[in-house]
Amino acid sequence: MFMAELVNNPTSDPALYVKLKHRQEAFLFDIGDIRRLSPRQLIRVSHLFVSHTHMDHFIGFDFLLRVRLGRDGHVSLFGPPGFIKNVEGKLAAYTWNLVGNYQNDFTLRVTELNEDSTRTRQYQCRQAFEPEDIDAARGFDPLIVDRDDLAVRAVFLDHRVPCLAFALKEKQHINITKNALEEMGLAPGRWLREVKEAIRKDFPAETPLGEITTDKVRPPKTMTLGEFRDRAVLVTPGRKLAYVTDVIYSEDNARKIVELAKGSDVLFIEAAFMEEDREKAADTCHLTARQAGTLARMAGAGYFRIFHMSPKYKGMEDLVYREAEEAFYK
Ligand SMILES: [Zn+2]
Repeated sequence: MFMAELVNNPTSDPALYVKLKHRQEAFLFDIGDIRRLSPRQLIRVSHLFVSHTHMDHFIGFDFLLRVRLGRDGHVSLFGPPGFIKNVEGKLAAYTWNLVGNYQNDFTLRVTELNEDSTRTRQYQCRQAFEPEDIDAARGFDPLIVDRDDLAVRAVFLDHRVPCLAFALKEKQHINITKNALEEMGLAPGRWLREVKEAIRKDFPAETPLGEITTDKVRPPKTMTLGEFRDRAVLVTPGRKLAYVTDVIYSEDNARKIVELAKGSDVLFIEAAFMEEDREKAADTCHLTARQAGTLARMAGAGYFRIFHMSPKYKGMEDLVYREAEEAFYK
């Protein structure tokens, strides 16, 4: 389970804070103005996804670094072409002659995504943030994070520079009910993990449990996976979140956005202007509120939230929200 929250009001520099419940961990999507996040919240950040490095989306990096310096931990960063140079530029702005003596170490792991390659470099605080090449691969795999509990995908969009949009998808949650186990006279053990894996991999319902588990003692060999699942397993589908910002409304972008955000429970999507300013939106490679609402509808999002409004709408945010909603519910 996650809880997602825009850090600021919709006219400020964007940042989306996603707290992973039941874990001491949070993800950040863009790092504009993050001064409202407490050190406690920033210490939880394990992954930072940067759409592009225009200043309004990346200026908060220094603030994050300042809070994390001198503490153990690491942050994995993902960003667009040129990202490694951008991060190194930030690091090069300061003097690091004393960090070798720090008790604690802090590490940045930076992955630069290009449409035809991926490169990862690591920077350790106690090594004065000297770069260390970790990985370089030809080709681009949109699945940039893949863990037991969730996955993150990225797609390239056009903002006159390549701009990344992201989708976070929780994997389904498989719970075994203790009561049901007791009723069936079964003791928990390693075999349950194997059964969960079989459910995750969609084994046929008629597969006998004995065929799945290597633990020959615990599971009832005559019971099938389907019978066991019906009696003792509760599957909660994972939720999906998508984050889209700084894109021009083009056919190509629209198709990619809809594909990425398809079926998301919550979609965060920029709406820099209102429809009456759509030429300005096109000139500056941004969406209008109507376009954002339309894209959210096309993607079948359960809920959507617009952000990154031009400061000219300060005090008139409701009008912008309304325009987006009208397009969504059309
Ligand atoms: Zn922007």
